Amino acid sequence: MKDNPQVIEQRWICPNCVTEKFIDELLARVPNLCSYCGKKDDAAISIESLAERTETVINKYFLYSEFEPHSTNIKGKTLGDLIACNTGAKQEAIVDICSVLKQRGKIDSADQSAFYYNLGINEVGEWDKLWNQFTEEIYTKGRFFSKLARDTLDQIFEGVFDFETDGESIIVKAGPNEELNELHRARNFFDDYKMFQSALCEPWKQIGPPPPENARPGRMNPQGISVFYGALKPDVALAEVRPPVGSRVIVARFKIQRELRLLNVPALESIPVFGSLFNESDIQRVQRANFLRNLNNSISRPVMPGKEATDYLPTQAVAEYLASVAGLDGMIYSTPQYNHESTNVVLFQHASRIEMESLPENCKPFVNETHVELDPNRIQIDIVVKSLPVGKSGSLNEIEVAATESTMATVPVSLKLDLCSIRTYYVKKADLTTESHCVSWQESEQKNVGSFPTF
Ligand SMILES: [Zn+2]
Repeated sequence: MKDNPQVIEQRWICPNCVTEKFIDELLARVPNLCSYCGKKDDAAISIESLAERTETVINKYFLYSEFEPHSTNIKGKTLGDLIACNTGAKQEAIVDICSVLKQRGKIDSADQSAFYYNLGINEVGEWDKLWNQFTEEIYTKGRFFSKLARDTLDQIFEGVFDFETDGESIIVKAGPNEELNELHRARNFFDDYKMFQSALCEPWKQIGPPPPENARPGRMNPQGISVFYGALKPDVALAEVRPPVGSRVIVARFKIQRELRLLNVPALESIPVFGSLFNESDIQRVQRANFLRNLNNSISRPVMPGKEATDYLPTQAVAEYLASVAGLDGMIYSTPQYNHESTNVVLFQHASRIEMESLPENCKPFVNETHVELDPNRIQIDIVVKSLPVGKSGSLNEIEVAATESTMATVPVSLKLDLCSIRTYYVKKADLTTESHCVSWQESEQKNVGSFPTF
């Protein structure tokens, strides 16, 4: 079969001579004799239409290079290899495809040995548009009962919880028998020493989530919905409360008491993106995977103080969707506050109840701080439980606790504070990680711009 375009145009290839699963349904299939194995097949493809499809893929995802690069790090292939890998076609068919490509003249080189860089599928297709539409709806229209927002999140998360990734699971189990069995939480008391002492005396009431009426809007919760923000490490928990210099912070560890299911947002970045460039539905799948990889950034994006009320709206809606529609107990997400490898966990309201401790009746705890002898920088803090005269109550803030307890009474206990884990911090200075950029003044080439400062 020598290169005669008229003849090539009438050639057909059967699914055995081209790896059928890679080739999408866009290509017409008809019963015909295969020009490469001589057998008749009901789903033969014309070599010309296969070449046209190849041309589209090359122009979209590859870039011609005049010279083959020496570095092995450069992703790319010769045209012959590229067609072989992507279609699984026999060598004689590749020769024919190249001949058709040459005749059509719509790619930079139809030579089998021409080198093409692989640009890959970097775009996210329609998914960014969908997300922007969702955030616009959330910012400007209905928040929690918007059908559009709900439909958009349905599309984004459809089937995601069942995805297999290369390493980490998309859904992580947490609980007493799991690897993730404890969380650290910090509370900042700023310079309110009285509150700080009060919290040390009953930490199970005051280091956990605030009562709903005091719940300020956060990354994953709107005003009035109380959730548990925790971190996998105590120093990350400390950094997350952004304590100013002079603050007093308490950090405690909470043991997870029951099995919880959490969406592992960083794992969305490792969703495999295999697929054929010859298959339109594979491309859409890869675009969605690309979008989901970026979702971790959207969710953990830093928000400036004072802008929480609006900038957190999309993540709040995602959290509510995951809690109420997807039935999850929380999310694992990266935090920008500490470093990119640090991880935070939010437990939604129904999974944030803390087990209360009870002191002996008519007893009250007191904080006793003493400087350690010979080491003036160390302070020993003891909580001393003293008996009260009969008739006096031992609880410190019964009204607040009653409110929390009544809201949470219907949900099972999820967390128990480890009394041996409590540490206090006094913030002496804050370290910043920055990058700095020079600013220089340039005189414009434009005439008559007036006097210009000289340096
Ligand atoms: Zn064949």
